[in-house]
Amino acid sequence: MSVPEHTLDRIVIVGGGTAGWMTAAALARFVRNGRTRIDLVESEDIGTVGVGEATIPPIVAFNSLLGLDENEFLRETQATYKLGIEFDGWHREGSAYMHPFGDYGRDVDGIKFYQFWLRLKASGEPVPPLEEFCLSAVAARKGRFARPSPDPRTVLHSMAYAFHFDAGLYATYLRRHAERWGARRTEGKIVGVNQNGETGFIESVTLASGQEIAGDLFIDCSGFRGLLIEGALKTGYEDWTHWLPCDRAVAVPCEATGEPIPYTRATARRAGWQWRIPLQHRIGNGHVYCSAHETDEAARDTLLANLDGRPTAEPRLLRFTTGRREKFWNRNCVAIGLSGGFMEPLESTSIHLIQAGISKLLALFPDKGFNPVEADEYNRLTIMQFEQIRDFLILHYKATERTDSDFWNHVRTMSIPDSLERKIELFRSKGRIFRFEDELFGEANWVSVLLGQGIFPSAWDPILDSLPQDQVRRQASVVHTALHQTAEQLPTHREFIARACAAEPA
Ligand SMILES: Cc1cc2nc3c(=O)[nH]c(=O)nc-3n(C[C@H](O)[C@H](O)[C@H](O)COP(=O)(O)OP(=O)(O)OC[C@H]3O[C@@H](n4cnc5c(N)ncnc54)[C@H](O)[C@@H]3O)c2cc1C
Repeated sequence: MSVPEHTLDRIVIVGGGTAGWMTAAALARFVRNGRTRIDLVESEDIGTVGVGEATIPPIVAFNSLLGLDENEFLRETQATYKLGIEFDGWHREGSAYMHPFGDYGRDVDGIKFYQFWLRLKASGEPVPPLEEFCLSAVAARKGRFARPSPDPRTVLHSMAYAFHFDAGLYATYLRRHAERWGARRTEGKIVGVNQNGETGFIESVTLASGQEIAGDLFIDCSGFRGLLIEGALKTGYEDWTHWLPCDRAVAVPCEATGEPIPYTRATARRAGWQWRIPLQHRIGNGHVYCSAHETDEAARDTLLANLDGRPTAEPRLLRFTTGRREKFWNRNCVAIGLSGGFMEPLESTSIHLIQAGISKLLALFPDKGFNPVEADEYNRLTIMQFEQIRDFLILHYKATERTDSDFWNHVRTMSIPDSLERKIELFRSKGRIFRFEDELFGEANWVSVLLGQGIFPSAWDPILDSLPQDQVRRQASVVHTALHQTAEQLPTHREFIARACAAEPA
């Protein structure tokens, strides 16, 4: 069968970081019409951002859709499993809570299990912390891991996981597959972007060597610089620094010490927070901070003073402006990755936003006609997703009781978007959360962070009043016992990795 004339002849991906190679792999795998050629241009001299190593559960589906073998992927990227994030010192100094993946307990007659917990807590009954009713959290605390069971009748079915991996190795791994599926890579620095004089559409890019690469569709994966979307198309950027004021990070890997824990740790600091991401061969660390409240030297010192092992490289400074492009798809250019926008890695959402950008692009895949209705829908959906994630991140700062620095005093008392205000008030009333239009973070995520940050509803959902207190207590006890017994029987995280996916020593 011949391929229609309006089918794209050539897609050019600019950039070979995580965004570039995830996009190249997915397009090479799924755009197989015999006509569309996929080219990626990257510059080793410029390099990649080199961070971005903690993920959230949808990455499992992305890898699986590409047909990647999970054990091979873990081996090749020195990866470990991630069952959630522990937030230390966010509610108050010395406090800690887990935001685990997966749900809490088992719902009864459509009533969310966390409502059972709220009722027991509000009635003054001795009930363990909510995290003890989520299998991923219980296993994480015990340092244990197994993949979820496909059988919905089992407790292990409720396990949910993601990965910590080496970002550079992930890009290399994806490159290998993308090239095998037909994507072509050109090494070189782009020095010119050539646009049509009338439509403003991008027609080609020029490399320092003089080579010109033409295309129908351009994917801007050039990182913070947004070479096409901003450099050429002047799309504009919406700055969210007033809500998320951290604007720098200093990152350094250190030697791995002890057992790799199956969760990320995010520890609040004087003017920001520090991440700890355990891989098989090292630990990734970084300190995200607000330059209006902390000097680069102080931020670096704080990071180096709080490492588990010896640093294995020089600390690297990164600057960023939190926000998003006014449009992610402008004319024949789609910005995926850091070129589209950035929110700090507090909930490991950037790589997910790459994956979400790719899925939406495939769902709204254009032809040479570039009907604007497709770009408009892409932008509407992507903007909504960015704003929903933004609100979730702001919650972590706003709902704090810390008063120990100007930074925390500022974020605790700042005004917040109406959308978040409404969400918090609804939860404060009877613990209700609603998920809007494909929202990434669902009830369990919001409940974990709202309660973890010290927001407790004034009442439970009255629909639960139909159940006697005894039944509520019994239900909680049955769930608690089942989760702990299941977690106890799992292999340790280290044992699981050794058996399934141990990497060669680095
Ligand atoms: C401090 C920090 C921590 C982060 N932590 C996490 C995390 O834990 N989890 C998470 O999901 N995400 C995280 N991220 C985000 C994550 O790093 C990025 O989403 C991801 O790496 C994708 O980056 P990218 O590919 O868009 O850009 P980059 O890695 O910067 O790649 C840009 C590419 O464009 C190429 N390029 C640029 N200009 C030119 C040119 N003129 N000619 C040719 N090529 C060019 C470069 O060579 C490079 O290949 C973090 C980000 C930061 C800043």
